Amino acid sequence: MKLVAATGNMHKLKEMREIFEDFEILSAEEAGFFGDVEETGETFLENARLKAHAVAAQTGLPALADDSGLCVDALGGRPGVYSARYSALFAPKGWTKGNRALLLEEMKGISDRSAHFSCAVVLAYPDGRELCAEGRTFGHILTEERGENGFGYDSLFFSDDLRKSFGEAEEAEKNAVSHRGRAMKALREQL
Ligand code: IMP
Repeated sequence: MKLVAATGNMHKLKEMREIFEDFEILSAEEAGFFGDVEETGETFLENARLKAHAVAAQTGLPALADDSGLCVDALGGRPGVYSARYSALFAPKGWTKGNRALLLEEMKGISDRSAHFSCAVVLAYPDGRELCAEGRTFGHILTEERGENGFGYDSLFFSDDLRKSFGEAEEAEKNAVSHRGRAMKALREQL
């Protein structure tokens, strides 16, 4: 079965190919989709649905999309769906440092540092049918960065499962416990 990965992120494409190893996974570009879908949803699931259905409708192939982010308990779940745009949307005026620096700044003096990554995945068919799944992974926010692997908030997230930061983890180790890995495996089981 052929699927299109509704993502421009090469990390995600690689992970999708590993989990759906017996499927032929095309990148959005290989399937002829060059557009950008605006993430206007208020939940990870809404955003994943927007992306998956847009790509399935335009390419005529089943499309797999995910949306994910970091939710920090003491910040009421922020940055959440705004994880990628966190500092652009929430930083004080004149802020020039990135998302991780803003997170450390906001967490200064806060002792409850518990957090989780969350991911929703949707497989949408061109006729409008869909399958959805979600996955989470739990841990806490470190007081300084640890490790250089991964991307995004990985170096600030200490994983309960791995007992080290995602920034210190090898890719396969992280994928085995990650929010995205768990969501994609749950969706795979439904297939
Ligand atoms: P999106 O799912 O591509 O919209 O991206 C969500 C944002 O959440 C990313 O840009 C990262 O900042 C963050 N994020 C999502 N998953 C991870 C992860 O596995 N590690 C680190 N950061 C992540």
